[in-house]
Amino acid sequence: MVATVIVAILCLHLLCFGAMFLLFSSRLRGRKLGMDVLALGNFMLGTAYVLQLLGGPPGWSLASVINHTLTLCTPAVYFVGAMRFFGRPAPLLRPLLVMALAYTAAQAAVQWGLGTVARYAMLSGLSALIFIAMAATAAQGVRSFARDLRAEMLFFAVLIGGIGMLNAWKCAKLLTDGMAALGMEQRFQLVFYGYMSVLAVVLAPAVIWLVLRRLTDDLRETAARDPLTGLLNRRGMTDALEAHLRTRGADTAHLLLVDVDHFKRVNDTHGHKAGDRVLCRVAEVMRATLRHHDLACRTGGEEFVAICLATRTDDALQLAERLRAAIQSMTVSAVADSDVPIRCTATIGVSDAFTDADGLDRAMQQADEALYRGKAAGRNRVCSAARAPDAAACAVGAAA
Ligand code: GH3
Ligand code: MG
Ligand code: MG
Repeated sequence: MVATVIVAILCLHLLCFGAMFLLFSSRLRGRKLGMDVLALGNFMLGTAYVLQLLGGPPGWSLASVINHTLTLCTPAVYFVGAMRFFGRPAPLLRPLLVMALAYTAAQAAVQWGLGTVARYAMLSGLSALIFIAMAATAAQGVRSFARDLRAEMLFFAVLIGGIGMLNAWKCAKLLTDGMAALGMEQRFQLVFYGYMSVLAVVLAPAVIWLVLRRLTDDLRETAARDPLTGLLNRRGMTDALEAHLRTRGADTAHLLLVDVDHFKRVNDTHGHKAGDRVLCRVAEVMRATLRHHDLACRTGGEEFVAICLATRTDDALQLAERLRAAIQSMTVSAVADSDVPIRCTATIGVSDAFTDADGLDRAMQQADEALYRGKAAGRNRVCSAARAPDAAACAVGAAA
């Protein structure tokens, strides 16, 4: 009786949380993070337990066959939901249909060939294998697709591994005790359904937590990036620099202020869209030229900032010169798919070395002054705050 009440409560949890997942997914529109698929999983398992409650004692019946098929297909559905959460496209309906038909046929064959106990043992055994494989995948994920969700994945791995172990235990009990193992008055059934019920309550908020984490991380990322080029914006640059200095300690960094020369002419001659393409191309060149741990940012209009971390002044100047040369040699088509190229140049101001986030404003000011000198000296050049007190010292193609 107690186990039956627990199954009823489990049903309620599954169906209610399924409805909640569905509501979430309807709000997420374009990117559902697998919530619609997880909702389907909950509805399937909830329906399986409704059939168990209404279907009477265990045995061969249509309700029991549908119940087993739904129960076995549910972990596969959860697996697809989890894959979609991690941004991996995974087909659902066709494989699910094939699995359901294949398992229904397998049930008929096993029932006919080996009997009822074997059919129940097959469900527990296969469920155990699937859940243990899922737990192993979740644990493995902390090293690949879920590096940022280490604690969460281990938590899921332990809980899902628990269902796997209980199913393995149920399979063993069925093989030793026969159908008596499924009696609802059995202690084992109390433990089994009690665990499942606790899981249905604990896993649902854990899934919501994962979704909220993903969404807030996405929001933070969006707020830190320039939408046109995908580079960091000023806020993202400050945050990334502070994070770098927090983890790596004080290093000498240099700030490069990159301003595209006569960019207004590009817009006036070729149009704003072509201008946007030039800005995107400059961003690509920056990504390709800077070292992987340097920060590439677009701070406004046609103005970019590179923060070269852990560099000496000579290295920063060489990097600035490589960047200037790369921008000079890049081409962008004037009209999309046209052969007429737009060429442009950039002037770069390089700050003195700085070692902490407080030095960023001063470095920006120094680089701005150096840039101004470079513009006055004729553009397309690198000027250093450290080395060039006068405009003449900034030369084309040479860091001064
Ligand atoms: P200088 O060599 O002195 O830097 O001259 P400039 O023409 O590059 O500088 P100016 O500040 O006169 O013009 C910058 C232009 O950049 C004006 C503005 O319309 C354009 N701009 C700003 N943001 C964007 C953008 O997002 N896309 C495009 N296409 N143009 C932009
Ligand atoms: Mg400019
Ligand atoms: Mg400018």
